[in-house]
Amino acid sequence: MLNGYKFRLYPNTDQQQILLRWIGCQRLIYNAKVQEDRYYRRFQQRMVGTAGEAIPVDQQYSRFVNDTTAFLRHVPSQILRNGAVKFRQAYTRFFQKLGGRPKIKKKTGRQAVWLTAELFQFIPVADGTGGYQLRVGTTKFPVGIIPYVAHRAHAIPASIHIAVEGGQWWLSFAADDPTIAIAGNDADTATERIAEALRHLSADQLAERTLGGDRGVAKPLVTSDGQVFDLQPVQKSRIKKSQQQRQKWQRRAARRRKGSKNHRKAQQKAARYHRYEKNVRHEYAHQTSHQLVANDTWDLYVFEDLKISHMTKRPKAKRDAHGRFLPNGRKAKAGLNRVILASAWSDVVSFTRYKALRQGKLVITVPPQHSSQECAVCTFTSPDNRKSQSEFVCQRCGHTDNADHNAAVVIAQRGITKLLSGIPLTKKHKPTRIFRTLGPERSEVTPGEMRVRRLGPTVPAQRSMSQELSGAIPETSASAS
Ligand SMILES: [Zn+2]
Repeated sequence: MLNGYKFRLYPNTDQQQILLRWIGCQRLIYNAKVQEDRYYRRFQQRMVGTAGEAIPVDQQYSRFVNDTTAFLRHVPSQILRNGAVKFRQAYTRFFQKLGGRPKIKKKTGRQAVWLTAELFQFIPVADGTGGYQLRVGTTKFPVGIIPYVAHRAHAIPASIHIAVEGGQWWLSFAADDPTIAIAGNDADTATERIAEALRHLSADQLAERTLGGDRGVAKPLVTSDGQVFDLQPVQKSRIKKSQQQRQKWQRRAARRRKGSKNHRKAQQKAARYHRYEKNVRHEYAHQTSHQLVANDTWDLYVFEDLKISHMTKRPKAKRDAHGRFLPNGRKAKAGLNRVILASAWSDVVSFTRYKALRQGKLVITVPPQHSSQECAVCTFTSPDNRKSQSEFVCQRCGHTDNADHNAAVVIAQRGITKLLSGIPLTKKHKPTRIFRTLGPERSEVTPGEMRVRRLGPTVPAQRSMSQELSGAIPETSASAS
């Protein structure tokens, strides 16, 4: 199965210069395509006469290389083509409803360039470790050998991304990992096959092999076997300090003139503190997910299907009888610490998911509604079951437990029910529509005809792009005119 790899990359100053130029040129082509697309769509909305014109969703870019953009001739043509290909791919994702329409790429934040096989080589090192040297560039535009640290063995990929973020360079790619011995080429097929295998077990057998995880009140993760996974106290205090520093530098950046050197310096400082926080969270999530998956007792992991955006939403304003505002706990809810814990938790879920798949185990998520009020023994659900933040006492059967642990058990049970119900655990992606290429027959459609067609019975199609119009409209609507 394919596996993702991300390694630190150490280009020297000259190499950085070249790579930054490549990044900039690829971004320019991508953004030019986005702007062109916007221009065409805008025109189409305003002018009926151009309604039949094709919007070029293609991979051509030569029209952007002219005398004013002569610098584009100083990078390999593949860099520019890849920018156009990325645009085409983004549009395909949009048609598949997997993402939004391609947007302008900004010059701030993480910057990356996509290199295909013509632009790099992995040369085996002869020291017997099975490692490689990475050589980047073509004969005409050489960059040379760029050192990178591979903390695990990998196969040779078909394409790579080179990215820079906050002054650090990264090499990332997807390559086949033969050590992942599971059925299926992609994660979705693998998930369904493992689920199918687990469905042969009875509910009781499954219960012995299932671990539920609850996002506790103050702890990022409490599991149904009674374990608590939390950040270390030192990590918490350092994150808090780092947050204060980051906010300080963000405020300073906001006061400084945009585009000035000092503005950039303040932004870089803020970015560095942000990176620290991210690294701590990632470390916690990697260690926790590894511990969960390494335990042979469990084959099925169940977590809450939580959306971070729900948790950080502003609470409703409360008013008294005179219409005055009352405290509504907004401050407490918006607490940054909560967000940090929440995002650490969602990292744990996604990391556990892919690490479990490697070992033929399964992670599923279930709706979390009332999981903290439901009794794990008799399923009686009531807010009264929750005596306090940490204490659970069932009002029907008298079952007492730690509230977070009880919720983890409830979640595990919901997971088993969901698995045994047999509903698919992965979403089916909609196939892309294949558009008929716009040939000479295009001219047979006059603007007037097109307008009639647009008002015709195929209403959903008219909202989409003109390519759809040509292929999607049945002949009957044209003959109606
Ligand atoms: Zn009960």
